[in-house]
Amino acid sequence: MRSNNKEDSDNMTDFRIGFGYDSHKFAPDRPLIIGGIAIPFHLGLLAHSDGDVLIHAICDSLLGAAGMKDIGTLFPDNDKQWENIDSSVFLSNILQLLENENWKVNNLDCTLILELPKMKPYIDMIVKNLAKLLKTPSDRISVKAKTNEKMGFTGHGEGVAAVAAVTIVK
Ligand code: MG
Repeated sequence: MRSNNKEDSDNMTDFRIGFGYDSHKFAPDRPLIIGGIAIPFHLGLLAHSDGDVLIHAICDSLLGAAGMKDIGTLFPDNDKQWENIDSSVFLSNILQLLENENWKVNNLDCTLILELPKMKPYIDMIVKNLAKLLKTPSDRISVKAKTNEKMGFTGHGEGVAAVAAVTIVK
């Protein structure tokens, strides 16, 4: 019979999957930062932080995998110290929390959902940056972008969504 007590958990393989989702609304007079890269566009993403929707989804995937709640709990959006902050800081802090428990990233796969701007010219730069931030070889990082076929808030160009799946090991 299975139970969730610590004793049983100790006998299990230290390999976990995490999933993350995030979305932000487009707004004028904001930078568009995706995966830590500044993307030239006439709109940016509205948020308390820099609005990096991709990094936020990745943060939640890592926290989910490690059983450490979520980004909103760790970095509340009513806390002044996180105002307009570079979301790479969130990611590095979270990676440190995982490293403290001997977790390392095995691979990451993520998808951006947006109509515009076209992300193709920036994907390699984003992968390289995420690989550096996550201390993981870039061939274990995958970033894809697709449209939502003009349906819903992403399809209507109202904002950007991102999903991320990560595996961590120790
Ligand atoms: Mg967010």
